[in-house]
Parts: sequence; structure tokens; C-alpha cells
Amino acid sequence: MSAVKLVAGNWKMHGTSTDLGEVRTVADAAARLRGRVEVALCVPATLIHRAAEEVPGFAIGAQDIHMKDKGAHTGDVCAAMLHDAGASLTIVGHSERRDAYREDDSIVRAKAEAALRSGLRVILCVGESDAEREAGRALEVVCAQVAGSLPREGAEPATLAVAYEPIWAIGTGKIPTASDIAEMHDAIRERLAAAYGSAGQGIRILYGGSVKPSNAAEIFAIGNVGGALVGGASLKAADFVPIVEAAAEAN
Ligand code: PEP
Repeated sequence: MSAVKLVAGNWKMHGTSTDLGEVRTVADAAARLRGRVEVALCVPATLIHRAAEEVPGFAIGAQDIHMKDKGAHTGDVCAAMLHDAGASLTIVGHSERRDAYREDDSIVRAKAEAALRSGLRVILCVGESDAEREAGRALEVVCAQVAGSLPREGAEPATLAVAYEPIWAIGTGKIPTASDIAEMHDAIRERLAAAYGSAGQGIRILYGGSVKPSNAAEIFAIGNVGGALVGGASLKAADFVPIVEAAAEAN
């Protein structure tokens, strides 16, 4: 596994230009901790250009892309446009999109492949629902999502991370036990190794779902946890920077 953890914030549909100061504070912390942790902020599409200009060299990401490179898709934005605006990575397959927009594994895979074609790194999300975990199907569901969503080409440790985000843990304050996280991350690691051989050993597997300053160190100590995807606690630098610092300490 890569020695340096990746901590990415997902601002979701929050943030305007008045929040650029938060981006600056996070970028300053990332510069201070360079070499010990990698940091990114996935801001709303409308803020990508401003944020990238505000903090040159810091990784600004998108939260979704269209799976096609161009065409008649009113209201959509493709990977090349986001790259041109200053994004260096994108999230694909977040459960909120899988659910609200019926994005299945084949769509998520096409989006991941489109991102890689346009030079964007990818954070690919997978995760089970509460009902699926209760039914004892979490491993089966997540492993099927991984197998169905992984890009066929262009995936390597520098370009792809997989985020395990149990849906029931997102924004709820609930998190799985350390052994449940370890079990899932080990299973995902096996699938990555099966898909990509030795490159699959180095692809980071992030945990996402109610990560906070108070639980970050414990989560980063779990085997095969290569970082975190953070929603609510990424909106304010005062919450996010301590998570980034915990990841730097964990190395
Ligand atoms: C997310 O939506 O990716 C997420 C992890 O959210 P939160 O940290 O708020 O649970």
C-alpha cells in the first residue's frame, strides 16, 4: 500500500466564493505537511476555477462528471471541461448519485474511464446500504460494485483510489467497527489485486462516512485504510485540518 494517505473533502452542494478562505487554509496545511499526506478538496463545479486559481498546486477536484467526452447533454459537464477549469481529480459513483440518478456500475465505470482519458485522477465510491448490511450481504454487494465499476484501463496507484463508504454511515455519525472496516478494505484489496496485479496492491482504499477529528486517528490505524473521503467535516478547515494532520501522523 502507498505510504502516504490521501484525504479528500467532498463539499457536495455547499460553498460559494465566500468560502474560498477555507480552501486557502486547507491548502496551507497541505503544503506544511507535504510528503506526509496528500490532500484534495472536491468543491462544487462552479467553484473549481476560482479555487484552482486561489491555491495553485493544491488538488482541486470535481464531484461528478459526464461519461461522454462531448455532445448533446444539456446541463452536464465532461471531464475535459473540468480539467480545463483546473480540476485534477474527480469523485465518481458517490452513493448520492447512484441513488438519486440511478447510476449503476456500468455508468460509474464509464465515468471513471472518461476521467482517466482526460487526465483526471479518480476517487471511485462503493458502499452498502443499511438493509444490505443487516441482511449480511455487505461484502457481496461491495465486491460486486468494485468488480463492475473499476476502469478497465489507466488505473494505477497515482490515478485511482477506491472509497468504501457505507451508505448508512454517510452524514449519520455512525461508523462501522474497526474490524468491519478492515474486513471490507481487505476484500476490496483482493479485488484490486485480481484486477490490476501488482498495481492493485498500491491503489489506496479510502474510508468514508462520518469521519471527524475525534475518530480519524483510529480509522487511519486500520490495515488497508489508505486515507479518507470526508463530507460534512471538510466544509470548515477547523474540522478538516485535524483530520489531515491525523493522516500525516499515521504514516
Ligand atoms: C460523503 O458523502 O462522501 C461523506 C463521507 O459524508 P460524511 O463525511 O458527511 O459522512
